[in-house]
Amino acid sequence: MGKQYKDFEVYLIHVDPEKCNGCGECAEICQGDVFEVSCQANPVRPENCLGCEACVAICKSNAIILTEI
Ligand code: SF4
Ligand code: SF4
Repeated sequence: MGKQYKDFEVYLIHVDPEKCNGCGECAEICQGDVFEVSCQANPVRPENCLGCEACVAICKSNAIILTEI
């Protein structure tokens, strides 16, 4: 019997500081509690990202870029 390896994805979350207006909607919708927002969103817990893209969809400023690696 061969060994079994668990597949998993890792996501990179980037917030463009020139576009983010600090509205906080990404932090509210994120199931992974990835963002902290003060004057701008900051992805402080990227390891929690599930790749759902809800933050990308809700951000009216198109400030969030999600990349699967
Ligand atoms: S939803 Fe977009 S504009 Fe609002 S805090 Fe998040 S990244 Fe910034
Ligand atoms: S893709 Fe989903 S889990 Fe990842 S930061 Fe955005 S809302 Fe949170």
